[in-house]
Amino acid sequence: DLQLSDRVQQIKPSPTLAVTKRAAELKAAGKDIIGLGAGEPDFDTPEHIKQAAIEAINKGFTKYTAVDGTPGLKKAIINKLKNDNGLSYEPNQILVSCGGKQSFFNLSLAFINPGDEVIIPAPYWVSYPDMVVVAGGVPVILNTDESTRFKITAAQLDAAITPKTKIVVLNSPSNPSGVAYTADELKALGDVLRKHPHVLVATDDMYEYIWWADFGFENILTVCPDLYDRTIVLNGVSKAYSMTGWRIGYAAGPVKLISAMTKVQSQSTSNPTSISQIAAEAALNGGRDCVTPMVKAFKERHDYVVKTLNEIPGFSCIAADGAFYAYPNVKEAMAKAGIDNDIDFAEKLLLEAGVALVPGSAFGTPGYMRLSFATSMEVLEDALARIKKALS
Ligand code: PLP
Repeated sequence: DLQLSDRVQQIKPSPTLAVTKRAAELKAAGKDIIGLGAGEPDFDTPEHIKQAAIEAINKGFTKYTAVDGTPGLKKAIINKLKNDNGLSYEPNQILVSCGGKQSFFNLSLAFINPGDEVIIPAPYWVSYPDMVVVAGGVPVILNTDESTRFKITAAQLDAAITPKTKIVVLNSPSNPSGVAYTADELKALGDVLRKHPHVLVATDDMYEYIWWADFGFENILTVCPDLYDRTIVLNGVSKAYSMTGWRIGYAAGPVKLISAMTKVQSQSTSNPTSISQIAAEAALNGGRDCVTPMVKAFKERHDYVVKTLNEIPGFSCIAADGAFYAYPNVKEAMAKAGIDNDIDFAEKLLLEAGVALVPGSAFGTPGYMRLSFATSMEVLEDALARIKKALS
């Protein structure tokens, strides 16, 4: 019998990818299934970005690049961080990776020792805890609910930090809740972090551009610049420019940490795809205009989805600030259906309504469902009508 590593037996496959796979299987078996599980924009990658990649291929830009990214892409990232966020970085403070997922993986392997604690607010992006576990770390989950709009409070953070805390993860706007921290909320968290100089902050800004809140985007560093030496900014082009398949994410932070993460990457994937780097450079240098119509569509769908979810008996859903997810509380609907866990409830919706949603337990908060509205209005109308019908 093959003896697998202890490490791999401690983690699970990504539950969001699993829901997508299950929906695809039922579809292939002839079932009429609407998949609202996937976390990727439904729009095509903008034309000027695709053209840049085609040109790169035609010019033979198809070889290894520097492990940490091409000088041109790094420059585009530095300009983005300066212009959008007022943050200053040198090229040796930037690491380009194969998606935001690899950025966080590199961080985990380069920074976490066995037994180190990593504070992760729930609901969280499904991959954080497992990547921490791969590195031997201990995820410390901070629970939240609608009463604080799924955001941790300063007091909660203060109570969770121990001498073993190595990283605090912040993700705003959040996958799965779509909510974002305000400047004042970040300032309050910064006040706590200032008392604990041994803690690094990882701010995952992946959904920065998918934004419609009536306040402006900020991260912990734009609000607390004094945390510069112990903050790592994680971002990427996957969600902003509808480029999930190109696999480009990036990290910006202290030289020592970025160098260590680069070393990890040099012994795993080496550079991200050369062609994708040219595409990402074109995306960042081309600005945000091509993103505007996507955000407009996401906002329209968001308004429709939140309103309609709140009309379903036993569902209640708060409005989001960005991203493309609705995260309704379905505890009452579960109780009405006599179902006590959200995985079974998701299965019921899949089989009886033909709609695939991701159960909240995947994100550390059972009793909720994540609905991705990265799909057309017609499909959303159909899906919500089906859920309504199945539960009435
Ligand atoms: N961070 C968050 C919060 C995400 O939701 C995702 C993708 O789902 C990522 C990072 C990683 O994105 P990618 O690896 O596709 O660039």
